[in-house]
Amino acid sequence: MHLTPPRVALVVLPWLVATGLAVVAADQPLAPAAPAGVVRGIYGGVPQEILDSGSSLRAFGVDAVWLGSGSITDERLALLRQQQVQVYAEFNTMHVADYVKAHPDAAPVGSDGQVSPPPNGWQGVCPTHEGYRQSRMAAFRELLTRFAIDGVWLDYHHAHASWEQAVPEMPDTCFCTRCLQRFQQATGITLPAVSTRERATRLLSTHRDAWVRWRLGVFTDWVREFDAIRDEVRPTALLGTFHNAWSDEDQQGARLQKLAIDLRAQAAYIDVFSPMPYHARFGHADDPAWISRQVQWLGRHLGVEGRPGERHRIWPIVQIADWGTPVPVAQIDTVLTEGARRPSTGVMVFNWGGLRTNPDKIDAIGRTFRALPTRTP
Ligand SMILES: [Zn+2]
Repeated sequence: MHLTPPRVALVVLPWLVATGLAVVAADQPLAPAAPAGVVRGIYGGVPQEILDSGSSLRAFGVDAVWLGSGSITDERLALLRQQQVQVYAEFNTMHVADYVKAHPDAAPVGSDGQVSPPPNGWQGVCPTHEGYRQSRMAAFRELLTRFAIDGVWLDYHHAHASWEQAVPEMPDTCFCTRCLQRFQQATGITLPAVSTRERATRLLSTHRDAWVRWRLGVFTDWVREFDAIRDEVRPTALLGTFHNAWSDEDQQGARLQKLAIDLRAQAAYIDVFSPMPYHARFGHADDPAWISRQVQWLGRHLGVEGRPGERHRIWPIVQIADWGTPVPVAQIDTVLTEGARRPSTGVMVFNWGGLRTNPDKIDAIGRTFRALPTRTP
């Protein structure tokens, strides 16, 4: 059991306060079927520009802020606590490039038997490297021990790939000696004594199902360990994950087959799923409803309806800042509203760093955030 009643209260109470006292106009009573609320979040730094404008974060419409785990300080935490918002950390799991530089045996190996170059510069790590896993678990423990935060979101918890673009690059990995040994031990399948290239060919054809299943299990087991540390160190903290927003069918099943993200299996450990449907970046600039379609698929996949008190929650992170493809100010209301549709019970803005010098976008976010709870069906 990973969800205790206090965790529910931590998330819901601030919204009830904001909605009941400040946001809902007197002539707009909540319909009985309305969800318990939508968490309205900012990702990527303290939104100092809101404070500089003279507004509190609560009055602006923000319930929660996500900071990179490396950027959390006592001062920032105190400031956000004073603002009465939830504070969550983003935690890099499989993407610490400096570790690979210092430990070349942690580099993912491709199907040609050679070290797989980082696609578009996105360096992944071999998922069975013990030293790397220990270093990440220690950093996760340290983060939760040191800071009284409300939760941690895993990020980049997937195989070596560059998927955050319209045309993803996802090489098959990792065929290092260690991974192949682990696979054989776990499955009882014996690979012939041939070259790595020939072994990889068999793993991607004859033994493909077993290979994919084993990789999914390896990545899920990391999540199991993160959850165990959370339960030990700070059991009131939420465990979330920022993850690829494709369905099982999108991109020929690449979320499972290539990225090794088994959302149903991870649901044994994760409280909050935050898919990343960056509509403009991913080729859906003129179709923001793509966001809610992906979230609805996820809800069906995980059995999440967006009811109050559900064990699992879905809070997508949506693209508001320009990244490759711009997001116009006029689209912000639609994007956030799509992100907040059921089964979603929260939506967060990607990302504050790209918005600091754009007051028009900041104003648009505030207008929608303050109106969101009365609009969500
Ligand atoms: Zn490996």
